Amino acid sequence: LKEVTEGKVRIFVPDPKEYMIEGKFDPSWAPVFYNPKMTFNRDLSVIVVSLLKPKIILDALSATGIRGIRYYVESWKSEQLILNDKNSTAASLIQINVKNNGIENAKIYNKDANALLYEIKSEYIDIDPFGSPVPFILSSINATIRNGIVAFTATDLSPLEGSSRTSCRRKYDAINYKLSSSKELGLRILIGKIIREAATLEKTVHPLFSFYADYYYRLFVIVESGARKADENINKNLKYFGECPRCGFQTFVDENCKTKCPICGENFIIIGPLYIGPLHNMEFLKRMIDTYSDFNYLSSFNRIQKLLNVIEKEAKYKSVFYNISKLASKLKVSAIPPIDSILECLGDASKTHFAPTGIRTDKGYEEIIRCVKSLR
Ligand code: SAM
Repeated sequence: LKEVTEGKVRIFVPDPKEYMIEGKFDPSWAPVFYNPKMTFNRDLSVIVVSLLKPKIILDALSATGIRGIRYYVESWKSEQLILNDKNSTAASLIQINVKNNGIENAKIYNKDANALLYEIKSEYIDIDPFGSPVPFILSSINATIRNGIVAFTATDLSPLEGSSRTSCRRKYDAINYKLSSSKELGLRILIGKIIREAATLEKTVHPLFSFYADYYYRLFVIVESGARKADENINKNLKYFGECPRCGFQTFVDENCKTKCPICGENFIIIGPLYIGPLHNMEFLKRMIDTYSDFNYLSSFNRIQKLLNVIEKEAKYKSVFYNISKLASKLKVSAIPPIDSILECLGDASKTHFAPTGIRTDKGYEEIIRCVKSLR
């Protein structure tokens, strides 16, 4: 074992040196999983949990226990801290790490997360699996109490972003293609799937805060009960998305049927169903922005500041971002103007954290094209 420091905790993790293969190390080769690249995900989650102050925290796929332990030490001393992993080596390591950080009252389980989630209820549930969170959606939504929160990590970007289309159909029950703004559409497909699963339990979810980083999505949802609320959310926020392969025009559409592009007449490529509503709760986002500076000890503090600054600006627009480099290549515009000059030309527009060449605006396609072309 090796002791590492992350945030304000010290955690024992398997020593990477012992699990090297030909001089290389992948966290999944160790008997218990610890990935330092996920520190940013955990750092941001520490801030979210500090604002939520849930009475009960359940870290359903804990590995070393680092997430739940960090929430307890850095966010908020919840009345109950529950940590679980179906790997027995992980469960033993969680015991050690919990003690080592002076936590007396944690409950540690060594169960299948789905089995545990049908036994206990919680106000905050963290689902941080390998790959897709889909196998844990129903059980985690079912296990929430009092408008609780579920936090999902999804690292299976290839189905969500339309690269593995059959896998997306199988796991997310959605038609998908790789489109110009798939980085954002993937998150919307994930939310759409969660809304449909929740609806079977006469519950529904609304995003509290969400983002894309490195190779994953992270999404916090508030769970609400009631068949009518579930129906309303489905009717209002579950639609399809069309992109014109010829001119790049994009829009949400009601149905998955053959629709022609209103600009150039080409058949749209249509994906979905997906969620078309806001990706954050604006009030909560404001609270995140007002509080994150209290966490300036975090190693990813500068990155958090940057991300929140962009999200604060882009969150006011309802439309999916336009990927200017993809749009320019469709329009055969060879030299792409700098993003900042396009933003200036549009006036009411922002960058997006989803893609460096993306712009977000509620202004129409024609105006975007005018700016892209006039600035050449
Ligand atoms: N949350 C951890 C962190 O932030 O470092 C990482 C969790 S790791 C990506 C996923 C963990 O889930 C592994 O430790 C694995 O043993 C565990 N796991 C996988 N399937 C499970 C299941 N069905 N029930 C409980 N644990 C499971």
